[in-house]
Amino acid sequence: MLNNKGRPTQPTVDSNVDDSLETFTGNKGLELETPLIFEQGVPGRIGVDMADPKPVKSRLGGLERKESVGLPDLSEPQVLRHFVRLSRQNYAIDAGFYPLGSCTMKHNPRINEKVARLAGLGDLHPMQPTSTVQGALELIDDLAHWLKTITGMPAVTMSPAAGAHGELCGVMAIRAAHEANGEVRTRILVPESAHGTNPATAALCGYKVEAVPARADGRMDLDAFAEKLGPDVAGVMLTNPNTCGLFETDVKRIADLVHEIGGYFYCDGANLNAILGRVRPGDLGVDAMHINLHKTFSTPHGGGGPGAGPVVFSEGLAAFAPVPYVIQGENGFELVEQVEGDAAQSFGRMKGFHGQMGMFIRALAYMQSHGADGLRQIAEDAVLNANYIRVSLDDKLHSSFAGICMHEALFDDSTLKGTGVTTLDLAKAMIDEGFHPMTMYFPLVVHGAMLIEPTESESRQTLDQFIGAMRYLLDKATAGETDYFLSAPHFSPRRRLDETGAARNPVLRWIPDESADANEKTSVSAAS
Ligand SMILES: *Cc1c(COP(=O)(O)O)cnc(C)c1O
Repeated sequence: MLNNKGRPTQPTVDSNVDDSLETFTGNKGLELETPLIFEQGVPGRIGVDMADPKPVKSRLGGLERKESVGLPDLSEPQVLRHFVRLSRQNYAIDAGFYPLGSCTMKHNPRINEKVARLAGLGDLHPMQPTSTVQGALELIDDLAHWLKTITGMPAVTMSPAAGAHGELCGVMAIRAAHEANGEVRTRILVPESAHGTNPATAALCGYKVEAVPARADGRMDLDAFAEKLGPDVAGVMLTNPNTCGLFETDVKRIADLVHEIGGYFYCDGANLNAILGRVRPGDLGVDAMHINLHKTFSTPHGGGGPGAGPVVFSEGLAAFAPVPYVIQGENGFELVEQVEGDAAQSFGRMKGFHGQMGMFIRALAYMQSHGADGLRQIAEDAVLNANYIRVSLDDKLHSSFAGICMHEALFDDSTLKGTGVTTLDLAKAMIDEGFHPMTMYFPLVVHGAMLIEPTESESRQTLDQFIGAMRYLLDKATAGETDYFLSAPHFSPRRRLDETGAARNPVLRWIPDESADANEKTSVSAAS
């Protein structure tokens, strides 16, 4: 049976699937298959029993809604079961290994959650008078201090709400600095292997993006970079460690070269986890860099929560940073919110209020519970885990670049050549084995890329099980069991999806089908 959007509401027997794997209900084990919440609703069903309200005089000036909103009528257990079931279908770092490269899906320690929920922090309102939130402002100031210390940078702005938002902040500051100098610069150089947000940010700020090729060893080609420099270059956006999981060993030279022509060095710091406590970006000549608190500092992300992307600045750019920021003045902690006085050169405001307070609390709790030695060990263990995977798969998969990697291992798909199995097919089979797939087809400079970032939080047992599953699947693929991969995943609640179709033509609204046929279907499913 299909609903009016073509989605099956009852199990359909898939001709590709062994019949013995189908059930009467469509449920698999205790994984339940249910109709859409709208299809479950029955007019008049209700979850609460309240007395009719006393009639009141309307103050809506005749603007009351005339028709129903169209929400389904449901009982309380129906609502509860619906959302609990959905939450169980949502794979998360709390459920298992999540080796998505470039995403740093590490464990979110419960101490962070506990502290963030303390009434004095969790119940704050951003519009409270500053005299009543001195502790919260001090916490922001404290976190700012540690971010500056860790990166060796003199200034930081806390408000950006994600990594990409931080990039926008950094490049807007670069643009403001050039404008203050009376200069019009039109180009920003970005390596070919950059995260997609880098060229997008530069383009959003009105710059022409020029790609710099990579060398055979996966680092940016320094000669090609030097050739592209000129007085019209506003800056370079470089990720370090880069998206191939490699440290850009020429980083100091790159910084010097861009400074020589009067440009700025934007460093994408999303991969800070690999160098935490080991390298200070300030020592490398960085002018602006975002820090993904939701990656390195363990605040939940990937459907689990909002991000936070504070940006550290060099002396040369600090004056252009956005408002608001916290200062310690005569009356304790204060917020500078206006573009005037000391903040006269600020490029303005990027976000309502002061940033993602809940993430600040979690990040500071994470730093303080680890201490300086613990933070350094995070980077060491993250790099060790990635290299353990790299070496353990070395005879089965081809490492795209020779030598030791940083926090993530990158392989190409040359092993799969001629098997009829693609990186995507392999990833689908990994789901059957109980692993969230790695990042695929990124970075673009590597054919059929598989980017695996285990992070420091995984144990040797988990890594060994993952490596075992990968070796098993790769043997299966090279032994010619192509069909197994083409029909994977076999055990997930949904099988192979049209992901492109879902992204290009998303069906986001449910529209009731008024036809008699549809009503009959509704009553059938309501009765069952
Ligand atoms: C994650 C990431 C970003 C973007 O961060 P968001 O918080 O997702 O906006 C940018 N660059 C790199 C290298 C990243 O890994």
